[in-house]
Amino acid sequence: MALRRLSVASAALLLCAVPAALAADGGTGVPPAPTVGVASCALQPAWTCARGQLMTLRGENLEAAASLTFLGDASSKDNVVVKLSARASNPTQIRVTVPKRARSGRVRIEGSTGESATTSEAMRVVNNLPATDEASNSKKLIAGGKRRARFSYDATDAAAEGRVEAIRGTDGKVVRSWPIVKSGRGEVVWNGFVGKRPTKSGTYLLRFNSVAASSAKVRKGSDTRFEMLEGFFPIRGKHTLARSAAQLFGGGRGHQGTDHFARCGTPLAAWTSGVVQYNAYQGAAGNYVVVRRSNGESYAYMHMRERSPAKVGTKVFAGQRLGHLSDSGDAQGCHLHIELWTAPGWYKGGRPYDSLPLMKRLDKLS
Ligand SMILES: [Zn+2]
Repeated sequence: MALRRLSVASAALLLCAVPAALAADGGTGVPPAPTVGVASCALQPAWTCARGQLMTLRGENLEAAASLTFLGDASSKDNVVVKLSARASNPTQIRVTVPKRARSGRVRIEGSTGESATTSEAMRVVNNLPATDEASNSKKLIAGGKRRARFSYDATDAAAEGRVEAIRGTDGKVVRSWPIVKSGRGEVVWNGFVGKRPTKSGTYLLRFNSVAASSAKVRKGSDTRFEMLEGFFPIRGKHTLARSAAQLFGGGRGHQGTDHFARCGTPLAAWTSGVVQYNAYQGAAGNYVVVRRSNGESYAYMHMRERSPAKVGTKVFAGQRLGHLSDSGDAQGCHLHIELWTAPGWYKGGRPYDSLPLMKRLDKLS
């Protein structure tokens, strides 16, 4: 939900001054105060627009607006006024092109008779449009995967607060940010993690904050808009998810994982990145491998056809081949038995928890 719902309660405009002419009028002719729910530009999160983009400001009682002022910072020196044509506004919206000189800050709406109102939220004015081409839209990356999101740029005389931000498309939230280089070429490479966890699946944008927008230029070929998936479904072929009681967590016999079936020999991949903690054979587990994630949780993949090529102590990325599905050890039918353990991990003091919700989610994603 990118746009917040419009309501009187979310009114963001406050009437700042009632013009003398109207006040003296006995009250009968005072127009109702304009209110604004949200201002936004296509493909951008709410309250964010690029210079040159068409901005839509939605609200109520907006028909009398004669001009808009992009206020920028506290001083009036950077104010940029836009006169509105008669067609630019109607009672519920104002549409205007964001001027090239506009700076981030609140926006003031001025009526023809001198009344004005200012948004409660500041507009983020950025330089770059989010990419809209199909290739860029359909790009899918996996958190912890081999392919990373890359954003490169040229900076001149960067201010200290200039940053590159990773923004979640659904709500416009900045999930991560990186300082931009002072000058010259810089690059941000994002693996889709926020702290020690893969970020939620969804559309993300990489772009400058408003400070950097005026002193840096994004280079061609940068990943400015893409899908980031939180993980990879580990069975890379047709499969059936755990269903019967015996295949589920607990399973009436202290089953510590969940069992998912596929044809013998189906490739098996790490669902997320981590470091290989164990790679061994055991009578019950068969050929198994345990991968430990940076947050201390670990994942055990069991009953593989042969010992995994993934060496203990080495890093694996999401989607890396771990082996093939089989029925080695104590298994009936070729399947993946996958265990999820809380930190500090598998037989290191963590405890197992149900892996089915994660498997269901990943199955839908990849
Ligand atoms: Zn099992």
